[in-house]
Amino acid sequence: MTKKNFQEIRTRIAPSPTGLAHVGNIYVALFNFAFARQNKGKFVLRIEDTDIKRHVPEAEQVIYDAFKWLGLENDEGPNVGGSYGPYRQSERLEIYQKYIKDLIAKNLAYEKEGAVWFKVNSGKTSWDDLIRGKIEFDNKEIKDFVILKSDKYPSYNFAVTIDDWQMKISHVIRAEEHISNTPRQIMIYQALDAIIPQFAHLPLLRNTDHSKISKRKNPVSVSWYQEQGYLPEALINFLCLMGWSHPEGKDIFSIDEFIKDFSFQRISKSAPIFDFKKLDWMDGIYIREKSNEDLIKLVKPFMLKKISDGLIGEIVPLIKERLTKLSDFPLMINFFIGEPKIDVKLLLDKGGKDKKVIKQQFELVLADLEKIKWETVELEKFFREITEKNNWILGKFFMAVRIAITGKIATPPLFEIMVVLGKDKTTTRLASAIKLLG
Ligand code: GLU
Repeated sequence: MTKKNFQEIRTRIAPSPTGLAHVGNIYVALFNFAFARQNKGKFVLRIEDTDIKRHVPEAEQVIYDAFKWLGLENDEGPNVGGSYGPYRQSERLEIYQKYIKDLIAKNLAYEKEGAVWFKVNSGKTSWDDLIRGKIEFDNKEIKDFVILKSDKYPSYNFAVTIDDWQMKISHVIRAEEHISNTPRQIMIYQALDAIIPQFAHLPLLRNTDHSKISKRKNPVSVSWYQEQGYLPEALINFLCLMGWSHPEGKDIFSIDEFIKDFSFQRISKSAPIFDFKKLDWMDGIYIREKSNEDLIKLVKPFMLKKISDGLIGEIVPLIKERLTKLSDFPLMINFFIGEPKIDVKLLLDKGGKDKKVIKQQFELVLADLEKIKWETVELEKFFREITEKNNWILGKFFMAVRIAITGKIATPPLFEIMVVLGKDKTTTRLASAIKLLG
């Protein structure tokens, strides 16, 4: 066989339209995308729909939407066209048929029981994996395998090889679960005298308990991350670190930096852990990088009740420091909109346990609050002075006030909340707390 080279770096992602965009697929897509961009090549999206007899347009759309949301635009594919189409396997059946016939004619494949089988010869099949180094299989371990099923659809191994070849894919970057398929695909390339692409097998994502991430254990659908209000930049940054590490050890970096610094050498063979705590932490960082104006726009679709732009605008800066994902926003701020539900037991537990003392504290506050200028600094001064004068324990007293006006123990700074709530609501809530305490 003559040594031939690819003229251009071309990578691909080849999802099946199952109705969801799997986060594991997005992770593989991201690495393909980055490598293609780094080398000014092309990133191809191919729909592998030969297992699904009926073409389901909605299932494809889910994939396109996920890629769009995450900024992983493909250069070729059913959604954008390209010179190597069609990009849906179900539309390529004649192409597969042609090569099936060729292989049978060359006596490299044969028909049996209504299917067509590839003839495996003796010897060894190996490749230099860009992540794992040399991988070699003894052909004895591999039996003849089906390339055309009895329903006249190609098998995965056959379709993927024909397509990668015909679409001039130079680098096949995919999950490690396909390592055992690779020798079969290489044998098909050799039988067709086709140029064999380079292979890179990425480590599989794992749960914190080291099991493989799967629908049953974890949310794997990109739409779930979208509904939870993770920012796409954060999810991308998080996925970049699944197996790959930044040369300067950075955790936070943009996709452009990833594209610039990407290399196969920096991908570890061991399974990266999909740790939601880390994702939440990262999302919080990206949220804090947003301007207040942008964040206001982002949280709006997550509001359960309609509130005015003015009020969201006042609340957002207070909450920004503590927000980890956008869907937490409405729950964190519900006390600004409706009356909070006060748990008397919590109020007593956290506020110093003595009902009488807490009631008296609130009464004394209410007696003077009327006169206070409604500003953070003035409010803080007043609350500190009244604490000192009466010898109260500051931490407990402030907590009691916090619970009385918000129903929560963790909130943005107390006096900033009061300013946004306004004098009327603040005093009414303290008064109702007194009543609740009986
Ligand atoms: N449709 C296959 C999958 O999603 C493609 C595998 C490959 O990249 O070759 O697993």
